[in-house]
Amino acid sequence: HIGLLRGNSTDVGGRIGVVLVFRDLTSVRRLEAMRADFVANASHELRTPLASLLGFVETLQGPARNDSAARERFLEIMRVQAQRMKRLIDDLLSLSRIEMRAHVPPTEALDFKSITAQMIETLSPLARDRGTIIHAHLPDEPITIYGDRDELLRVLENLIENAVKYGESGGKVDVQLARIEGPDGQSQAVLSVQDYGPGIAPEHLPRLTERFYRVDVVQSREKGGTGLGLAIVKHIVNRHRGRLDIASEPGEGARFTVALPAYVEKAVSE
Ligand code: ADP
Repeated sequence: HIGLLRGNSTDVGGRIGVVLVFRDLTSVRRLEAMRADFVANASHELRTPLASLLGFVETLQGPARNDSAARERFLEIMRVQAQRMKRLIDDLLSLSRIEMRAHVPPTEALDFKSITAQMIETLSPLARDRGTIIHAHLPDEPITIYGDRDELLRVLENLIENAVKYGESGGKVDVQLARIEGPDGQSQAVLSVQDYGPGIAPEHLPRLTERFYRVDVVQSREKGGTGLGLAIVKHIVNRHRGRLDIASEPGEGARFTVALPAYVEKAVSE
């Protein structure tokens, strides 16, 4: 941009230069503001359980010193708060690791179908505890993609767990995987996770993948959420050169769709 400014001595060029520099600064400022926001949010999220932990430690050292029933109760609350802090720190670390690798495309050839089946099997008992059945609609053939196994498992885990958490309790979750030919002729692996819960109002949809954005903070906390799950999903999907789409009809449920480039073995011509 600076080069452009120097190279253009005419009025018109000068004006173009000024606009470009202005835009550049706005995006730098926006990034700075986002970073400052993120640090403030993360600190606040960590401070809340920490303050509660400190409060209980002081109570146990003081007024509740000889009250064994209170001690048991308080220790359990402290365990839950410490667990919340650990989850948050684990998610923050995951996010920063994925960000560090953002520009290095994953190279391992994997079968996305078996990874999907594996995660459905892992989460089915948790879903059953809520009375929710996960229905798998998987293709007969494997779907090869270039990816990172742990990251893809994370995408599946976050989306299916959310569908079970926020979906209708006692309901069902449909997990569908298919290979389709994209508009550009590129083959794609398309995963969709659909629940039939209350869904998400349209004004929230564009912001759901922002870090710490939650439709209902209290509900998310009660369900053990950190507000980072969908931000992590978005980063992983981007790293895999894929797309994430979120659609919801309030009252009818929500559908999260991930499309990733699939690998097609080229027929060898004689
Ligand atoms: P959290 O840890 O709060 O679940 P996420 O980043 O995974 O964070 O999701 C962000 C927010 O998006 C959630 O707090 C919830 O309000 C909303 N959300 C995510 N998945 C669903 C869903 N399947 N149905 C309704 N709301 C959802």
